Amino acid sequence: SRLQDPGFDFFYFVLQWPGAYCDTKRACCYPTTGKPAADFGIHGLWPNYNDGSYPSNCDPDSEFDPAEISDLVSTMQTKWPTLSCPSNNGSKFWEHEWEKHGTCSESVMDQHKYFENTLALRDRVNLLQILQDAGINPDDEFYDLQDIKNAIKDGTGFTPVIHCNKDPDKNSQLHEIFFCVDTSGTEFIECPIIPRDRCPSKLQFAMF
Ligand code: 5GP
Ligand code: 5GP
Repeated sequence: SRLQDPGFDFFYFVLQWPGAYCDTKRACCYPTTGKPAADFGIHGLWPNYNDGSYPSNCDPDSEFDPAEISDLVSTMQTKWPTLSCPSNNGSKFWEHEWEKHGTCSESVMDQHKYFENTLALRDRVNLLQILQDAGINPDDEFYDLQDIKNAIKDGTGFTPVIHCNKDPDKNSQLHEIFFCVDTSGTEFIECPIIPRDRCPSKLQFAMF
């Protein structure tokens, strides 16, 4: 039998480097639960179309409900910490991600599954370890974009897309890593479309 069309083509699974989020003019606020570990955190799991566009805010009736994910909250605090200001416990970030992106994959996963699957994806890529094993450390040094991509491809089997942001001195720094995931939200895939890396050929890996 044919599976129902999920209504989108793949997911982006996006990780963020806290050192880069914080090292901007806007700065950051640590969550009320404390300074996050110096490790990649989750930004989100985003349904996408093969033409590069994406659905958003698909179901205004499906509100974020902390009670549905109470068993996941302590894990989310460590692996999906918020860094926006003012300081808060993370619920606002998770609510935004659910309402903007999660509601567009409800044909595949309910709210609990959405957060559970996203956390599981984070556990499948030990990104910081992979980079450090390749001699790429969050030490404010500059690294070749190609070396970073090669290390991640060798370590995970999948080609990432990298986005940079700028520190107050206008240095480009490693900010977000995009992977692609199949419509079940559980298996990494090579990206069906390859957006360009939004980084120069040399970039800083900021301390956190
Ligand atoms: P930015 O403008 O910072 O790249 O993205 C702002 C927001 O737009 C992201 O946090 C995300 O919610 C959404 N967004 C940006 N690019 C994409 C994309 O390629 N796919 C999807 N699904 N969402 C995106
Ligand atoms: P997006 O629309 O890009 O998926 O999500 C970004 C939104 O989540 C923004 O409104 C931003 O203020 C909020 N947000 C809260 N905490 C964080 C965080 O740690 N990182 C990012 N990128 N956005 C956060």
